Amino acid sequence: MAASLRLLGAASGLRYWSRRLRPAAGSFAAVCSRSVASKTPVGFIGLGNMGNPMAKNLMKHGYPLIIYDVFPDACKEFQDAGEQVVSSPADVAEKADRIITMLPTSINAIEAYSGANGILKKVKKGSLLIDSSTIDPAVSKELAKEVEKMGAVFMDAPVSGGVGAARSGNLTFMVGGVEDEFAAAQELLGCMGSSVVYCGAVGTGQAAKICNNMLLAISMIGTAETMNLGIRLGLDPKLLAKILNMSSGRCWSSDTYNPVPGVMDGVPSANNYQGGFGTTLMAKDLGLAQDSATSTKSPILLGSLAHQIYRMMCAKGYSKKDFSSVFQFLREEETF
Ligand code: NAD
Repeated sequence: MAASLRLLGAASGLRYWSRRLRPAAGSFAAVCSRSVASKTPVGFIGLGNMGNPMAKNLMKHGYPLIIYDVFPDACKEFQDAGEQVVSSPADVAEKADRIITMLPTSINAIEAYSGANGILKKVKKGSLLIDSSTIDPAVSKELAKEVEKMGAVFMDAPVSGGVGAARSGNLTFMVGGVEDEFAAAQELLGCMGSSVVYCGAVGTGQAAKICNNMLLAISMIGTAETMNLGIRLGLDPKLLAKILNMSSGRCWSSDTYNPVPGVMDGVPSANNYQGGFGTTLMAKDLGLAQDSATSTKSPILLGSLAHQIYRMMCAKGYSKKDFSSVFQFLREEETF
């Protein structure tokens, strides 16, 4: 991979379509060979915390699925539901001309696309390959080049919203790629998300996602620190959260995903930090932000500190817990 590739500006030509708005009729022309309106099978690779509910939403919209995951147990419930499970990404590409990948890291995405039994081994001309994993934008650009050589189309479409939004079909997709293909991507992404945003050329979806997650990590650590301080000052955590949420300190981490056990129901902090968005994945995204900041010479002081905190958490047994467990980590770190 060419590590020296630089990010294209995410701000260029930002466009937004809600699922109620239809794309311009002309933009379908580029994808007519893929039978946009028909319910032909869709390939789905990576059925983990996010991929599982996303694939189920495609099923609810009537799309037959061709499924693959390196962890066979992840495919079982889809097999039981009558979907077709195959034994490699190449087999998915042989049977489906629209494929969504939802994998943990850049390395996994490279393996699924360019590996010995990767998508590129059997991809059909004209296929649409959408990668919703959060990975390095430079890797997305390299994959796009490889895919283009095979006569197919690659788009990066990472998501924001977490497992709850994946279940309810309310994800936000940040899409990078050729604009003429956006309508075709939107047809599928609109089944899994309530907002599908066109960001620009390939890699700009990842750029937007990395920026969002850096801010999320910073605001989660800030919320955890604040709640911990307030509790140690004698405030009731529910009362403190209520006050923050009606004041200028309010943010998504305080009002929707509060990290303190007992403050909210239905969030990972209410369930011993199980499920949700893993600390390892947050550390990975902050590493991507760090790399991007270095290549663009951008100062990210708080982003770098957040990266170090999440790396320390991974080293201290928090790797499998939700990233909001930073509250528990800070409480245990008296001398931090
Ligand atoms: P996960 O680890 O729960 O699931 C990933 C799945 O991919 C697993 O089932 C794994 O077996 C499979 N896999 C790994 N390598 C593979 C390969 N080469 N071929 C086929 N399958 C492979 O991860 P997740 O939480 O679903 O996250 C997926 C992506 O979405 C990550 O990039 C993450 O950063 C991003 N994301 C996650 C959340 C969240 O709340 N969990 C939110 C937004 C974005």
